[in-house]
Amino acid sequence: MVNTTALLSTLITANHILHYHNVLDAMGHVSVRNPNTNTTFFIALQLGPAVISGPQDIGEYLIEDGSPVNNNTQGGYAERYIHSEILKRYPDINAVVHSHAEDVLPYTVVQNIHLAPIYHMAGFLGRDTPLPNFDIEDAYEPSDPRDFLVNSPRLGAALAERFGVNTTTLPSVSPVYTTVLQRGHGFVTVARSVEQVVDYAYYVASNARVQTKAILLAGSAGRQDCSSAGFSGNGTGDIKYLSREESRDSANMNAWIVFKPWTQWVREVERSGLYVNELGSG
Ligand SMILES: [Zn+2]
Repeated sequence: MVNTTALLSTLITANHILHYHNVLDAMGHVSVRNPNTNTTFFIALQLGPAVISGPQDIGEYLIEDGSPVNNNTQGGYAERYIHSEILKRYPDINAVVHSHAEDVLPYTVVQNIHLAPIYHMAGFLGRDTPLPNFDIEDAYEPSDPRDFLVNSPRLGAALAERFGVNTTTLPSVSPVYTTVLQRGHGFVTVARSVEQVVDYAYYVASNARVQTKAILLAGSAGRQDCSSAGFSGNGTGDIKYLSREESRDSANMNAWIVFKPWTQWVREVERSGLYVNELGSG
């Protein structure tokens, strides 16, 4: 049996870290599969990530349909079906983050500019094909309110499907992508552990910031004559993204080094004075 107290402590700290680094605002959430049941998952109740502080702030839900365990209907996230449907579809995924990070949002709405790994900490984004961009309009039925919320198993399943199926691991169903964008809403990233999914979520937003700056710089370079400054660049502003191989190998590097940023991020939220973790974060 896994120590559930330690797992919930990690989940609380994950909420704090992602808030501290502006990956989660007052919305957004992180979940983890309950390894002792494998049929349920933990996710915070209807609270902002910064104020989650103890087990009383965490709900447990069935992966099958997102319904609360023990009939606890107290204030759950409307979008918990993002988590239930992903955890149901992909047995080797144990943790999920859904974020509205502003750095990423432009890549969900600008056509023909794809979020792609531009430096080595985000190789997990992959380079085989552009990241999927889930447009909820495609999944709506006529009677659905157009509020972008993934607030039913049907909408959650439509989003989960966009992670794809890695045919090399069949019959075990693993996702092709670690990350899926959501048009006009945000993104979802998935991993095997809370620590890894926090790392992914952080570096999705980080990569978006760097990529945006590179695009702006490249566009500027394309309009400037650099010859007078002695530069030998051609001024076309081309951007060199990670190759497929660089992306794959960087993703492997990111997986084994995850303990390092996690340890530092824990220290940051412990000392910030803003967050409380009644279970301790050590
Ligand atoms: Zn949302």
